[in-house]
Amino acid sequence: MSIINPNAPSPARDRTEPVAKLLVVEDEPSISGFVRRGLMFEGYDVEVAENGRLALESIRDRPADLVILDLMLPEVDGIEVTRRVRAVEATENLPRVPILMLTARDSVADRVAGLEVGADDYLVKPFDFDELLARVRALLRRTQPGTSQRAPELLTFHDLELDLSSRTVTRGGRPIELTAREFDLLALFLRHPNQVLTRTMLMERVWGEDFYGESNVLEVVIGNVRRSLESTDQPRLIQTVRGIGYVLRPT
Ligand code: CA
Repeated sequence: MSIINPNAPSPARDRTEPVAKLLVVEDEPSISGFVRRGLMFEGYDVEVAENGRLALESIRDRPADLVILDLMLPEVDGIEVTRRVRAVEATENLPRVPILMLTARDSVADRVAGLEVGADDYLVKPFDFDELLARVRALLRRTQPGTSQRAPELLTFHDLELDLSSRTVTRGGRPIELTAREFDLLALFLRHPNQVLTRTMLMERVWGEDFYGESNVLEVVIGNVRRSLESTDQPRLIQTVRGIGYVLRPT
C-alpha cells in the first residue's frame, strides 16, 4: 500500500511515465471517434488522421508508438501508407512503428497484402472496442517490452486507489466492492480527474456506442458508486454538474 496524502490532489497517473502515443487513421468519423474516445479513456495519447496523406505527414512529423490503420482510405490507401512507411524506415534506419490494420470482413486479399507490405497485425471490422484494446496492448508490449509505453495500471485520486490489473478499489485503505460496470465507470473518472465527463461520454464508453435513450441507468450506477465510496462518511468525490454530467473532484 502506497502512502497517500489526502490533502494533495494527485494525478490519475504518474506523469513521469510517458504514455504511448497512438495514431488512428480512419476516414469514417463514427469509427475514428469511437476508437479515439475509447483509447483516450484508457489513458493513451491519441491523434486521428482522416486520410492516407495526412497519416504519412503525421508519422513523419509527430512519430507515434503505434498506428491503427484502416485499409480503405481516400487519397493514399492503407496498403500504400504501410509500404511507404516501411520504405522510409528502411532507408533512414528508423525503428519500425507497429501497424495494426483494420480490414473489412470479406477482404482476405487485403489482409494478406497488408501483412506482406509490413503491417504487424490486423483486426476485422466490425470489432469490439475491448478486442482492439487487447491488440493494441499486445503490440505495444511486443515492440516495447519492459518499458512503460502502456496505459497505467494503478490510478489514484486523493485517498482513492484503483488497480486495473487486479480490478480492486480501496478508499483510505478500505476495500470497496463494485460491480464490473461500477468499476469501469470509476476508472473513467480516475483517468480524467477534475474534468467534466458528459452523460453521453460516460454512457458510450461504459455501455457501448449504441447506448442511447433517456434511461436513468447512469444515475443509478453513479448513486451506487457514491454509496460504496462514502459509506464511512468520507466526503463525496463524484460531483454532479447539472445538465451536463459528472466530475471527479473533492467537495
Ligand atoms: Ca475507411
